[in-house]
Amino acid sequence: MKVIVVGSSHGGYEAVREVLADQPDTEIQWYEKGDFLSFLSCGMQLYLEGVVKDVNNVAYATPAGMRAQGVNVYTREEVSAVDPAQHQVHILNHNDGTERDEHYDKLVLSPGAVPFALPVPGKDLDNIYAMRGRDWAVQLKAKTVDPDLKNVVVIGSGYIGIEAAEVFAKAGKKVTIIDMLPRLLSLYLDTEFTDVLTDEMKAKGIYPATGQAIKSFTGENGKVTAVVTDQATYPADLVVEAAGIRPNTAWLKDTVDLDEKGLIKVDQYQQTSQADIYAVGDATLVPFAPTAGSARIALATNARRQGRIAGKNLLGTPQAMPAVSGSSALSVFDYHFASTGIKEGTAGAYGVTTKSVLVTDTFRPAFVPETAGNTKVWFKLTYDPATQRILGAQIMSKADVTANINTISLAIQAGLKLADLAYTDFFFQPGFDRPWNIMNVAAQAALRQEAGQQQIKD
Ligand SMILES: Cc1cc2nc3c(=O)[nH]c(=O)nc-3n(C[C@H](O)[C@H](O)[C@H](O)COP(=O)(O)OP(=O)(O)OC[C@H]3O[C@@H](n4cnc5c(N)ncnc54)[C@H](O)[C@@H]3O)c2cc1C
Repeated sequence: MKVIVVGSSHGGYEAVREVLADQPDTEIQWYEKGDFLSFLSCGMQLYLEGVVKDVNNVAYATPAGMRAQGVNVYTREEVSAVDPAQHQVHILNHNDGTERDEHYDKLVLSPGAVPFALPVPGKDLDNIYAMRGRDWAVQLKAKTVDPDLKNVVVIGSGYIGIEAAEVFAKAGKKVTIIDMLPRLLSLYLDTEFTDVLTDEMKAKGIYPATGQAIKSFTGENGKVTAVVTDQATYPADLVVEAAGIRPNTAWLKDTVDLDEKGLIKVDQYQQTSQADIYAVGDATLVPFAPTAGSARIALATNARRQGRIAGKNLLGTPQAMPAVSGSSALSVFDYHFASTGIKEGTAGAYGVTTKSVLVTDTFRPAFVPETAGNTKVWFKLTYDPATQRILGAQIMSKADVTANINTISLAIQAGLKLADLAYTDFFFQPGFDRPWNIMNVAAQAALRQEAGQQQIKD
């Protein structure tokens, strides 16, 4: 059997690995239109901040390593069209300008997404960058050490925008972060968390310009000099656009069914509308556990799962993609946060009625001094008041307590309710936590809230 995989990031890589592991004698052709295999945008901040020195190490596979395992790797070769009836792809070889067709028995598409470029006046000025992929990583890195660069404007305050803002603030630049939404990180965290993080960012020299719409970029001598919003003008020697992504699927519109946003429609086995063609990653939707519907959640974790599932199914082992909750984590200077599922701030968009409890505590018993690392934890649990099903959670602290969110992700996936979580057996040891884990405490508080009972005081 011959399998062709398009795209060498998380989704494509995982599909290749699965096929290799389960049927090593399969002929695999793996195509990447860029000149670098499997760049890991997730590791970009570590590179930009100098933790990882060599940009070429921000990857999880090399052409030589994959070829040694029998995979036919093609870089700078773009799959430009698919003919499902003939089971053929058309390839543009950017190395030598040639073109050719290749037959496939099974095809996996992981074309990913591209950063959204705001279509406003001045959009073609120089020094308007994005933060995705190796090429932008190299260009951004040069800007972090450019002494002439004073003012950086980041557009978009999702996790990518926040990473960019932190990188340039740490590099000593004056950073403004603009978002049309009223709060930074508002799709990830509710107000109780973003208020604290916004203060933290302000203290570190990042100015939050929220609730503002970009009107234009202005410039001199072809280079951007300012970003104009509906409320103010911000000087900018560099603009980093992190205002969302668009699926890289225009080339597939006559091949497989796309939704109105251009996402490839797939079934639970990652199969597209065409036989023998699978699709995975940021160009697709994922099944969303809190609503039992689907959602657009562009995360490597999802692309990885989908790649595996596609690999299994194309080899003839039926396996459905499990529902996910969009669990993610990030550090913002000294704070670490994680969230999963539905928040109060996103419930409306999902058409879900929710209630929540917020618990704040120290993460270890009160007798453990702050000098020993005992610090405050914020934890918010969100549930369906009609069924008491757990729908989401957020956690934040200067201590790394983010792993709790993985437990909540499992609870959501398993359809657990408040009563299940209220007395779940979690370990206690004063070096790690408190006698009642904060998830127990929150679920108990939610049950008391639902019963109209007074909350237990410490
Ligand atoms: C700065 C940043 C930080 C992130 N951090 C995290 C994180 O910490 N955790 C997390 O879970 N997720 C993170 N993500 C998200 C994660 O990187 C994406 O969800 C993931 O990369 C999606 O993988 P993908 O395979 O769908 O496609 P993409 O990563 O978009 O890659 C698609 C690849 O396919 C190639 N390609 C496209 N079309 C063709 C074609 N026709 N022919 C040949 N090749 C083609 C492209 O060149 C590209 O290399 C981060 C993203 C960014 C930008």
